[in-house]
Amino acid sequence: MAIRTRLAIWFSILVAVVLTLSALIRYTGYKQALQSRQDYSLRVVADILDSSIPRHSPTKNEVQTAVARMIREYPDIELKGILIEVYDSSRAVIFISSLSEAQQFHITEDIWKRTQHKEVSLTTIPAGSDNGSIRILTKPIFYRNKLIYIIQVGSSTNDIEETLESIFLFNILIIPLSILLIGIGGWFLAKEALKPLEAIITASHHISSGDLHHRIPASDTSSEISALTRAFNQMTIKLQSSFQQIKDFSENVSHELRIPLSILRGQTELSLKRSRPVEEYRNTLESNLEEILRMENIVERLLFLSKAERGELKLEKSELDIRDLSEWAFAQFKLQAQEKNINLILNSENSVTVYGDEVLLRELLLNLIKNAITYTNEGGSVSLSIGRSDEGAVISVADTGIGIPEKDIPHIFERFYQVDKSRSTQGSGLGLSICKWIVEAHNGKITVESAYGKGSEFSVFLPSPDRNG
Ligand code: ADP
Repeated sequence: MAIRTRLAIWFSILVAVVLTLSALIRYTGYKQALQSRQDYSLRVVADILDSSIPRHSPTKNEVQTAVARMIREYPDIELKGILIEVYDSSRAVIFISSLSEAQQFHITEDIWKRTQHKEVSLTTIPAGSDNGSIRILTKPIFYRNKLIYIIQVGSSTNDIEETLESIFLFNILIIPLSILLIGIGGWFLAKEALKPLEAIITASHHISSGDLHHRIPASDTSSEISALTRAFNQMTIKLQSSFQQIKDFSENVSHELRIPLSILRGQTELSLKRSRPVEEYRNTLESNLEEILRMENIVERLLFLSKAERGELKLEKSELDIRDLSEWAFAQFKLQAQEKNINLILNSENSVTVYGDEVLLRELLLNLIKNAITYTNEGGSVSLSIGRSDEGAVISVADTGIGIPEKDIPHIFERFYQVDKSRSTQGSGLGLSICKWIVEAHNGKITVESAYGKGSEFSVFLPSPDRNG
């Protein structure tokens, strides 16, 4: 069942309960008010009668005269349809008003007992002639502690019953009508309030069919719904960027692997075209091995980054002398530097200790020095300086190489970003993103300064042991 229908039904049920309860309370209140007003009128008439009848043992005649005079003096009594009967102490009727002739009251045993105790009783009896009932007040009159006569005044409850009946009919008509109107109104209101949800549903359909550009227009109908809209749009933006990253990633991986694979394929196909001397096969295999190593390197770097991002790489930290690590790293590139006639310079006066993961920090230095040698022309120099700053250790790798164009500097730490493929045949654009991850895993930071055509300097800041825990 649709939410709006359910809301409308709940709303109607609630309204039905509230209206019925309030109608019941009002009905009972009216009934009591009308009855006590009638009882009050009867009491007033009984009191007037009591005061107009003589106190001593009056004769039947005296009573009749006194009552008839009183009725004449208060014409309202007859007008209001009040019936009057007077009995003597032996329960014999001594007066009946003209209105009461058709309806004679009785002093029942129960009332009689109460009169003995000087109690005023109020009873309701069914009317003799027409429908309805009669409310009777019985008042015993005592003189010197002796019951001398009993006054009974009564009036029909028809008026009260009619009033109550019309209230009842009014409610019977109004309550269902209100419930119906409120139900319909509630349905439309709920429909209006839930309209933004329809936009969310439409957007979900678009998204599930692959259109992540779809956004829900901001609505200010209700703060909850607009909060939901905002959250939904934010989620879509995040999804879109994740999907874009995945797409870029797959494209980059395919692109990076396609070049070595097509080299491998071309060389292998060429070798197989005709038989060749062993030396040529050897050369082809050596070249193929180079491509295989390149692919292996890409795959290993990708695995490293994905493990790092999944949090699967645990740092094994220890106190390390950065100068020792730098000397070791320089040693790895001695041959390569000699081949390119590049001067390797290590500037470090004192040993600098850092608290870090040895394997990762070695990898960091290798990447930075490798890049510096790769992007420096023959005869240039690469210098590694180690020092201390207020924040901890500073390692910088500077070269006199080709530099990085200004527009590329903000991107070089991005995965697969290469300034210009023609600058290096070896690169894959993953080295610096690995460096960045390693430095950040040590709570440090890496920066670059470069002058295009003059050289670059990469600086790594690693916090002191007490700072990075
Ligand atoms: P690659 O494996 O292609 O070198 P990196 O992530 O290590 O990838 O570097 C990204 C890009 O930054 C490279 O394509 C390169 O052009 C540029 N770069 C990195 N180091 C230097 C450097 N020392 N001198 C000039 N350019 C550099």
